Amino acid sequence: MSEMSGLRALVTGGASGIGRATAELLAARGANVAVLDLDPSSVDKPMRGYAADVSDDSSVRSAVAAAAADLGGIDILVNNAGIGAAGTVEDNDDAQWHRVLDVNVLGIVRTTRAALPHLRASAHAAVVNTCSIAATAGLPQRALYSASKGAVHSLTLAMAADHVREGIRVNCVNPGTTETPWVDRLLDQAADPASERAALNARQPMGRLVTAHEVAAAVAYLASPAAASITGIALAVDGGMQGL
Ligand code: NAD
Repeated sequence: MSEMSGLRALVTGGASGIGRATAELLAARGANVAVLDLDPSSVDKPMRGYAADVSDDSSVRSAVAAAAADLGGIDILVNNAGIGAAGTVEDNDDAQWHRVLDVNVLGIVRTTRAALPHLRASAHAAVVNTCSIAATAGLPQRALYSASKGAVHSLTLAMAADHVREGIRVNCVNPGTTETPWVDRLLDQAADPASERAALNARQPMGRLVTAHEVAAAVAYLASPAAASITGIALAVDGGMQGL
């Protein structure tokens, strides 16, 4: 029997990219998985999809309550939904700042707040937030996105401290540039997407992007009972981008 059999997991942003790979991996390892997404129509059985916008508190509360009722509780919460933003501090107006912080930071706050009563009732409670190397790397042209992920990093540490005595572990993964529809969309905007992709690969220490499955494997580990003594860490999955 897999060590995740019977665990009940909720993955936000689980209809695409890293979230989708994570939901599928948790399900393959025996967890019962619910996906919360703006558009969960592509979520396949046996996973269950719930439509919600993490920037809308009432939709989050309804979706988390419905998922918890259908799963019979929540042991694992993966706060993965997020959006990007390019530019320096001169390029994004206040509305863009509010929007990205609302989704990337407050989205985690809202979903966790709604899930906490269920996590407290679990014997294997774990929260994993999808952060980014942008939290600490000082990336150019990513002021707003980096600030949002810096907040996710600090929030992860604070939540770990707040809930450790309740038996709830909180960690984050910090992916480098990862092969997902998000990156495909960015590359498609380039004048020559193929050469832009080649240049992006060449900038990576391993000569290639991280895969969504590799990030999912790190999330699944942090969420698993094998990581029972690990809380308050940021696990980089970045092909050596920051360490080398
Ligand atoms: P993606 O665009 O492929 O998937 C994101 C998913 O989140 C989509 O299904 C989307 O519908 C959902 N979503 C977006 N806004 C939402 C909202 N308000 N409410 C509910 N769901 C919402 O993106 P991805 O590349 O898989 O990114 C997932 C996470 O990984 C994000 O938090 C992102 O910041 C982080 N990340 C991505 C990379 C990368 O290079 N792809 C690197 C580091 C971190």
